[in-house]
Amino acid sequence: MTIHPSELIVPGPTPTGESEKFWAGCRDGELLLQFCERCEHWVFYPRTVCPHCWSDRLDWRRAAGTGSVRSFTVVHKPGHPGWAVAAPYVVAVIDLAEGPTMLTALVGVEPAGVRVGLPVAVRFETVGEFVLPFFAPVPPTA
Ligand SMILES: [Zn+2]
Repeated sequence: MTIHPSELIVPGPTPTGESEKFWAGCRDGELLLQFCERCEHWVFYPRTVCPHCWSDRLDWRRAAGTGSVRSFTVVHKPGHPGWAVAAPYVVAVIDLAEGPTMLTALVGVEPAGVRVGLPVAVRFETVGEFVLPFFAPVPPTA
């Protein structure tokens, strides 16, 4: 099985002062990451200080939204009952093109079709009152 986001009735994220802009980007169909203007590293997850050089000169920039699967697992028994409709589904760590990693769920692919190194691209999906960034294989396999 694979995830069909419109079927999910699951708890959404809790936007904070640091992550508000990230979630707003998702609503606009943009994957926004922080970029450190001092050391020029991209930063994810959102925070107030660069983890590379401790500068607070973090700006928001649009990321390509592409990457590859660094690692993944197949979830058979979700931690929340709302995800049961999608199980078994794939949760993956994505190496984003800009460098940071992002923990996400894959859509548009069966678990058997996932491998380390699989090229993926972000796919924004509405789940309840949120737009969430999932990733799907490119080119699509399902
Ligand atoms: Zn920095």
